[in-house]
Amino acid sequence: MALASTPSSSSPQSPSTSPQRRDILIVGGGFGGMYAVYKFREMGLQLQAFEAGGDVGGVWYWNRYPGARVDLPSIDYSYSFSPEIEQEWTWSEQFAAQPELLRYIDFVAKRLDLRPHFQFNTRVTSATWDESRQLWVVKTDRGETYEAPYCVMATGPLSIPKEPDIPGVKRFKGRLLHSARWPHEPVDFTGKRVGVIGTGSTGIQVVQDVGPQAGELFVFQRTPSFTMPMRNETLTPEYVDEVKRNYAGIREIARSSTVGGSRPQSTRAFFSVTPNQRRVLLEDAWKQGGLSMLGTFADLMVNAEANEHVAEFVRGKIGEVVKDPKTAEALKPKGYPIFARRPCLDTSYYETYNLPNVHLVDCITDPIVEITEKGVRNESGETELDILILATGYDGLTGAMMAFDVTGRDGRTVRQKWQDGPRSTFGLMLEGFPNLFMTTGPNGPSALANIIRISEHDVDWIADAITHLKKNGLATIEPTVQAEDAWMEIVRGIAQRSLINKAKTWWVGANVKDKPQGLTMFTGGFLKYREYCAVPSANGYRDFQFEPQMEAVAA
Ligand code: NAP
Repeated sequence: MALASTPSSSSPQSPSTSPQRRDILIVGGGFGGMYAVYKFREMGLQLQAFEAGGDVGGVWYWNRYPGARVDLPSIDYSYSFSPEIEQEWTWSEQFAAQPELLRYIDFVAKRLDLRPHFQFNTRVTSATWDESRQLWVVKTDRGETYEAPYCVMATGPLSIPKEPDIPGVKRFKGRLLHSARWPHEPVDFTGKRVGVIGTGSTGIQVVQDVGPQAGELFVFQRTPSFTMPMRNETLTPEYVDEVKRNYAGIREIARSSTVGGSRPQSTRAFFSVTPNQRRVLLEDAWKQGGLSMLGTFADLMVNAEANEHVAEFVRGKIGEVVKDPKTAEALKPKGYPIFARRPCLDTSYYETYNLPNVHLVDCITDPIVEITEKGVRNESGETELDILILATGYDGLTGAMMAFDVTGRDGRTVRQKWQDGPRSTFGLMLEGFPNLFMTTGPNGPSALANIIRISEHDVDWIADAITHLKKNGLATIEPTVQAEDAWMEIVRGIAQRSLINKAKTWWVGANVKDKPQGLTMFTGGFLKYREYCAVPSANGYRDFQFEPQMEAVAA
C-alpha cells in the first residue's frame, strides 16, 4: 500500500480561473470517492476530487443526528481492499455509531493521504463532454474549471436531503433541523418540546435517542416502518482477533452473498417447514437480532404469503412491547410487505413510546396540515414545539446526478436521458456519455446491498475499463444502446418478481413529487451483479463502443 505522491489539487484559498488539466476527475468524498482517489492514484493517474462537505465521509459527514449508527455489522461495513487497514483498525462495536465511523474514515484518509487530492466545500455545478477534445469539462461553484478524459460520479444514492411537502416549513420560528444536515455541535434537548417528522431508518434512530432526553417528544408518523432489535454489543478483543485472522474468508463470503455481508443466508423456503418450526426460527432470529430475520427464509421477497406471516410475527412483537394499545396499533405497519420498505434496526424504539413524555401523532388518521410559526398543525390541532427535526429522507438514487448539469454527446443531459427513470449499463455507465462512470448507480444493487462492497467493486470495474482503453490505445468507452436496453431488461425482469415494488418508498421514487415511479435497482443480489459486470472484460467489451484518440484519427 503506497502512500501519496505529490498532491495534484490546487489550494482551496487560491482558485485558478484557467482550466486545469487532469487525467481523471472524481465527484464525491464518501466511501466510493475515497477509494476511487486511492485506486486511480495507484494507477498513476493525475486526479482531482471534489466534495461539497467540509471533509471526507459522505453521508457520515452530514448525518450527525443523535443516534446515527450503521445497521450493517461494522466488520462488513468497512473497506476490504487493504489488508493493512483491516489489521490496523479495530472496531469497538458490532454496529458502529457515526462518530466511530467518522474516526474510521479519518483513519483511512490519513493512512492513505487522501485529503490533499480533494477540494472540500466545493460543489460541482456542471460536467460537460467536449466531443472535439474528448474531455470532460467540470465547473465548480468556486469558479474553477477542470478538464480530464475520465470523470467518476461517486455522488452516492443518498446525498440530496428532502424537505417534506408540507406548507409553511420556512415559517417555523423555533429551531429547524434536518437529520442529513445536522450541526457539528451537540443539540441540547433538555426540557425542550421536540417534534420529529419521519419514521424511516433515520427517524427511528432519532426517536429512541432523543425521547429520553427531551422534555416532550412528539413523533409525527405517516407510514410506520418495521424495525427489529439490533442487539448491538461491544466487540471483545478475542472476537476482533479472530476476525482479523479471518478477514480474507469474511470478505469472500460477503462478495459471494446477496447483500454484500457475511450474515448467513438460508436457502429454505418458508412453507417448507412446519408452522411450529417457523415460529422457532423466527423467535431465534428475533433473539439473534440484526437482519437475521431477512436471512431466515429464502423466499420472503417473492412469496407474499410467507412475507405476511413474518410481518405478522413482528407486529405481534410490537404489541408485546408497547403498553398503550392504541399507540401499539398505530405503530404496526400494515398494507405493504415487510422488507419492501428499508428494514430498520433499533435498540429501544418501541420501548421509547412507553415513556410518559413521548407521544405518537398518527398522521394517517390525523394528517399534518401545515407547519406554523409555533410548531406543527394537524387536523386535530396545533402542537407547539421548540425544536422540529425533519427526518424526511432524500431524493434518493438519482437525486445527486440530476441536481446539476451533466451533459453528454449532442448536448443531451442526464436529466433528459432519465426523464422517465434512470437507465444505464450496470449502474456504471451511460450510453451517450463517454468515459463518464458512476459508483453505486441507480441500476445496480445500490441501496439493496452493502454500499462499501459495491463501491469497491464499481471502482475496480472502472479501473479495468480505463486499463483496457490505455492498453488498446483507445480514447473513449461507452455502452451501446443495445447493451443498455439489455441491462435494463434484466433489471426490470427481476424487479417484477420482487415484493419491493409493493411499497411506496424512496426505493421506488415514491417520496418525491413528480419523480418517475418504479424499482430501478438490480434486485438479483450482489454476487449476480458481479457476475454480470465481469462479462465485458472477459469478452473484450463486446457490448461497448470505443473511439480512437483524436491524434490517431488525424494521423
Ligand atoms: P426515509 O426512509 O425516506 O423516511 C422518510 C420519512 O419521512 C418517512 O417516514 C416518510 O413518511 C416521512 N415523511 C416525508 N414527508 C412527510 C410528510 N410530508 N409528512 C409526514 N411524514 C413525511 O428516509 P430516512 O429515514 O432518512 O432513510 C433513508 C435511507 O437512509 C434509509 O432507507 C437507509 O438506506 C439510510 N439510512 C441508514 C441508516 C443506518 O444504516 N442505520 C440510518 C439512517 C438512514 P412516508 O413513508 O409516509 O412518506
